[in-house]
Amino acid sequence: MARNMSKTKVPMPEQDPEIRNHNFAEVAFGYDQDQACEEAARCLQCKHKPCVSGCPVNVAIPEFIQHIADKNFEEAYQKIVETNNLPAVCGRVCPQESQCEQLCVRGIKGEPVAIGRLERFAADFHMAMMQAEEQKAGACSVLRPRPDGAKVAVVGSGPASLTCAVDLAKLGYQVTVFEAFHVAGGVLMYGIPEFRLPKAIVQREIDTLRQYGVKIETNMVIGRVASLDELFAKGFEAVFIGTGAGLPMFMNIPGENLNGVYSSNEFLTRVNLMKAYKFPDVDTPVKVGNSVAVVGGGNVAMDAARSAKRLGAEHVYIVYRRSEAEMPARLEEVHHAKEEGIEFRLLTNPTQILGTPEGWVKGIECIEMELGEPDASGRRRPVPKAGSEFVLDVETVIMSIGTSPNPLIKQTTPGLETQKWGGIVADEETMATSRPGVFAGGDAVTGSATVILAMGAGKKAAEAIDEYLREKKGEVTGEE
Ligand code: FAD
Ligand code: SF4
Ligand code: SF4
Repeated sequence: MARNMSKTKVPMPEQDPEIRNHNFAEVAFGYDQDQACEEAARCLQCKHKPCVSGCPVNVAIPEFIQHIADKNFEEAYQKIVETNNLPAVCGRVCPQESQCEQLCVRGIKGEPVAIGRLERFAADFHMAMMQAEEQKAGACSVLRPRPDGAKVAVVGSGPASLTCAVDLAKLGYQVTVFEAFHVAGGVLMYGIPEFRLPKAIVQREIDTLRQYGVKIETNMVIGRVASLDELFAKGFEAVFIGTGAGLPMFMNIPGENLNGVYSSNEFLTRVNLMKAYKFPDVDTPVKVGNSVAVVGGGNVAMDAARSAKRLGAEHVYIVYRRSEAEMPARLEEVHHAKEEGIEFRLLTNPTQILGTPEGWVKGIECIEMELGEPDASGRRRPVPKAGSEFVLDVETVIMSIGTSPNPLIKQTTPGLETQKWGGIVADEETMATSRPGVFAGGDAVTGSATVILAMGAGKKAAEAIDEYLREKKGEVTGEE
């Protein structure tokens, strides 16, 4: 196909905003084959591959895109999974604009190549092929021989753990993943909503991991049912901790204990994992009322707001203390939220939540802010404007101002060094912790970050665990 010199990406078809804000089906439909080939033809196949250095797991970007341009879609998928075992997820939720696509040379005089959309296309093509083949064959096959090496325990089943687990299984280790919830997948399952990341897709990716021989045990809260020391006593020779950062933060303002105040974690878990949006077909309702305030400006806040709208709230406000320029959410999420009718109250900070005599939320008092001098983060500090208080009448408040790691593992693992804020201390290159044989990565180490950074950490840890276990066995010589 001839090079496509269009300055803009091939648009991705998506549901109309006025229709999609009433349903939980995926917003974007994805490229069809012609659209994917047309977009792939925008890639210049740069020899120095700047885009690759923007990807934390070093996907071979020009090579997979060339396969798409040549209509070798399965080859494109196989090229991606050489380094990225969750392409259908990353193609949908990676913040590409600040990673691979940020360094794409086509972005200098126009829009970068739509690397994420093409990755999603290749992954979806492969899944559709596999489904068709499984239907014909009646079952799915094991991709690799069952591993028989040393036993490794992986705690948590988010992207950090899943990546570490599959890389170790590919090296022949016997890997068991222990997950606290009844479902594996971490935030991919309980946090990011169906309309952005369909759960059937995450489940397919997890099933693929099982095919590599990884055992997944759910309902296993490590630190309660077994400590790390007990796992070692049971014969595991190394442990990876990928327990994420699921402990919600609150503002500590009056009224936060009223009925109708949620953390975004609780709210989204009810919606995604307990399928509240299917009530009354499922037993877990979430009552949002007519008006909802979501406090925060990140991806999580956008997800909570867009979910509340879909559950029937007429007015959903994003209450954020800085301006839009400082919002940490992905541009696409902010754009989609606006299209769906979410109302942004920027430079606004809550001061208290107001309740009825019966203890239910009836409003949120806020104060207007203005931007002052830059603070330690380099962003201009928001300062309250005296006398500018006002009340938003709402029945639900969702706090989405951040999370920190759950302290359970730290409390039950003697000698495991942690930061003051709860993050596990781990070496940046090897992800080794202060305890020999114990490695950690993802949000449990960095605090809330991204799927792809968690996957990058899982990859590094798998390499280091392999080296540690081979050294222990005396296989690694000084020349290696
Ligand atoms: P997690 O995904 O948090 O998984 C940790 C797992 O460990 C959980 O399943 C938990 O139940 C389990 N666990 C915890 N303690 C124990 C224990 N003691 N024993 C056993 N299991 C335990 N990132 C993006 O890149 N793009 C996005 O668009 C995006 N949107 C997001 C939207 C929401 C609503 C949220 C909450 C996050 C979003 N993120 C996004 C961030 C991203 O999902 C996380 O950075 C990523 O999931 C971190 O992966 P992880 O493997 O470290 O941990
Ligand atoms: Fe880009 Fe994410 Fe794919 Fe890497 S994994 S190429 S950062 S979309
Ligand atoms: Fe293609 Fe852009 Fe990467 Fe160049 S920088 S190889 S144009 S994706």
